[in-house]
Amino acid sequence: MESETTYDLIIIGGGPIGLACAIEAKKAGLSYVILEKGALVNSLYNYPSNMTFFSTSERLEIGGVPFVSNSPKPTRAEALEYYRRVAISGGLHIKLFEEVMKVQKENGSFSVATTKQTYTCKNIIIATGFYDIPYLLNVPGENLPKVKHYYKDPHYYAFQKVLVVGAANSAIDVALETWRKGAEVTMVIRGDKISDRVKYWVKPDIDNRIAEGSIKAYFNSSIAEIREHEVDINTPEGLITIENDWVLAMTGYQPNLKFLREMGILLSDDAVLRPDVDEDTQETNVPGVYLAGVICGGMNTHRLFIENSRIHAEKIINHIKMRSSIPEASLV
Ligand SMILES: Cc1cc2nc3c(=O)[nH]c(=O)nc-3n(C[C@H](O)[C@H](O)[C@H](O)COP(=O)(O)OP(=O)(O)OC[C@H]3O[C@@H](n4cnc5c(N)ncnc54)[C@H](O)[C@@H]3O)c2cc1C
Repeated sequence: MESETTYDLIIIGGGPIGLACAIEAKKAGLSYVILEKGALVNSLYNYPSNMTFFSTSERLEIGGVPFVSNSPKPTRAEALEYYRRVAISGGLHIKLFEEVMKVQKENGSFSVATTKQTYTCKNIIIATGFYDIPYLLNVPGENLPKVKHYYKDPHYYAFQKVLVVGAANSAIDVALETWRKGAEVTMVIRGDKISDRVKYWVKPDIDNRIAEGSIKAYFNSSIAEIREHEVDINTPEGLITIENDWVLAMTGYQPNLKFLREMGILLSDDAVLRPDVDEDTQETNVPGVYLAGVICGGMNTHRLFIENSRIHAEKIINHIKMRSSIPEASLV
């Protein structure tokens, strides 16, 4: 089905930054729609149930809407409530559970095909985040149902033998939380220490649990094979086999850069694969296509987060407004 409206702007991704862009677009009187493949703020919805943000609530605010939370650092539940309120109070135009599959340029406008219909627009903002594609372990047995790349809640793992892979914030939170709910936790860590990026108020907790032997950690190690009831681990002392019920692979996530490449967006030729974005306007090398939020960092998914990328919304809308106020003839 083809939508008859030609929007000034289509925003791909209904995360915090996509919503921030919609608020600015609405203020500027631009016609727009947000297309979101899952629920509202889908990445946040899929974060662990008990997670607490490292940012204080005012740093997660968008569109000047106050975010009041019970303690300085809000919980996931409070953030979901906040972004729902923002969407309702702003009267934002959002289509949920509608994934964008393909974008094509046709006669000076864009055709955006989703899982449900095709839209036409003059400008596009891609705010698709980085939480959809987990880094795989690439070992035999990874496709067993007991291997999880996303973690929700510790109760499920009570009194189970849990292997946590990784040494960054997510892995540490999962290891500590499941251990506190009665799981027998082993960690497999590629490097020789817990990541320096782990929240400073959590680091002593995991260091002490490992030092006292409550959580067993294999450093400089990697998984060799996963089987129904066992896992083989390559350690500096050789291959060992441990009994195991669940593998929680908290090895991080990567942005869908293929989607950007297919639209003609250039990526840097180093390991970061940083998209070609003008930092003043957020416009990419494809005129009319803008990037907002964490996706702008390419594979460096730690550079940008909500508090330092919400500014992208204003930059983009100012640029679209400025450009649309210039008569077309003088742009040629
Ligand atoms: C455990 C955890 C804790 C964090 N804590 C903090 C914190 O304290 N402070 C902070 O600032 N940041 C924090 N972050 C990072 C922060 O959540 C992200 O930086 C933020 O979500 C980025 O917002 P975004 O809108 O750019 O992307 P996202 O929130 O990831 O939104 C992208 C949206 O695009 C949708 N999408 C993707 N592809 C398509 C498609 N083809 N079609 C339609 N929709 C699509 C996705 O479903 C998603 O809803 C944390 C992250 C994690 C994992």
